[in-house]
Amino acid sequence: MYIVTKHIDFCYGHRLLNYQGKCRYLHGHNARVEVDLAAERLDARGMVQDFTDIKQVIKTWIDDTLDHTMLLNRADPLVPVLQRQGERFYLMDDNPTAENIAKLIYSEAHARGLPVVAVRLWETPTSCATYHP
Ligand SMILES: [Zn+2]
Repeated sequence: MYIVTKHIDFCYGHRLLNYQGKCRYLHGHNARVEVDLAAERLDARGMVQDFTDIKQVIKTWIDDTLDHTMLLNRADPLVPVLQRQGERFYLMDDNPTAENIAKLIYSEAHARGLPVVAVRLWETPTSCATYHP
């Protein structure tokens, strides 16, 4: 089994509902995501997947969708306010925790045909959540 990993950095804002810690307030993170792709055999180029292709596919989606965006629970009462102000936000069915963001990025990478096996979302340099099915 071969595994390659692509790092992608992006910035996001969020807050958590039904949570008593300080993450209940609007704030932001400089996140690093690590996308692991795996293959039993290498392709004709000797690769699991070209790093440039991985970047093209998933970094483009992250840049267009999550970077410099407020990630919010769909039930967040701030949504109409941000909408009126023309702010950029992305709605999630659950709280926008590192765990749920990792799962979201996994799902988008998988849906775009990448042989993704795990996604790690570093919310801070010391805190990381991993999703793999
Ligand atoms: Zn946070």
